[in-house]
Amino acid sequence: MSLIQFRNVSHYYGGKPAVKDLSFEIEDKKITAIIGKSGSGKSTLLQIINGLIKPSGGSVYVFGSPLDYSNIYKTRLKIGYSVQGTGLFPHMSIYNNIAVLGKITNVPKHDIERRIDTLMSFVNLPPSFKTKYPYQLSGGEQQRVGICRAMLLDPPVFLLDEAFAALDPETKSEIHTELLDMQKAEPRTIVIVTHDLNEAVKLADNIMFMQDGEIKQYGSKKDVLNNPASVSVKDYMDNRAL
Ligand code: ADP
Ligand code: MG
Repeated sequence: MSLIQFRNVSHYYGGKPAVKDLSFEIEDKKITAIIGKSGSGKSTLLQIINGLIKPSGGSVYVFGSPLDYSNIYKTRLKIGYSVQGTGLFPHMSIYNNIAVLGKITNVPKHDIERRIDTLMSFVNLPPSFKTKYPYQLSGGEQQRVGICRAMLLDPPVFLLDEAFAALDPETKSEIHTELLDMQKAEPRTIVIVTHDLNEAVKLADNIMFMQDGEIKQYGSKKDVLNNPASVSVKDYMDNRAL
């Protein structure tokens, strides 16, 4: 059984479905990109994976068992989550921002230090940044710190929701490369929500295309790009220049 599995999962907002009867598995240790127009249910799906949203119906299996909403905090420590805008604590140094989850879970100081050095070098942040504060960093650098923070405890699952959407193309491309390097060194199950088809093509092994809360196509990147399953998938691809 894969780390993430949905069985007949639906979620409604005020009687209106945001995701409808979704059943799928995410391939372990691969990057899956969820693409689709705004409002198609991508963010809802992602937040159902990490238990931020408890769906109206169906079963969500993460790490081999149904999500336990009474103890979701413990599960969430094993799921990195990164969103657009970094949510860094402005009054805390970069080091302390990255270290947060390590301190909360009593990881020995020495291990935290070593892990932070490893992570900062993955994303090309110089060690001197540890004593800086978020306001002293560019948007791209802050987003990198956000990645380090999410990766501190080496979670087996990493979810990203439009995490790079606000970055300029060059910075975005650099971070993509860093993420792929990290994935090679520490393979994990990554699900990335994006409306940027280029991003999906560059990063993903698998692509899931959503529309109106439904999965219209799901398969290997090659498959989805070469054989769009419907006119709506094809139109979406065609309207986004590669
Ligand atoms: P996407 O991430 O693909 O843009 P979302 O998952 O955010 O889509 O939203 C799917 C649908 O659910 C949309 O119609 C959106 O308006 C609705 N929705 C999302 N969050 C809420 C909320 N907190 N309250 C009410 N409706 C919501
Ligand atoms: Mg969204």
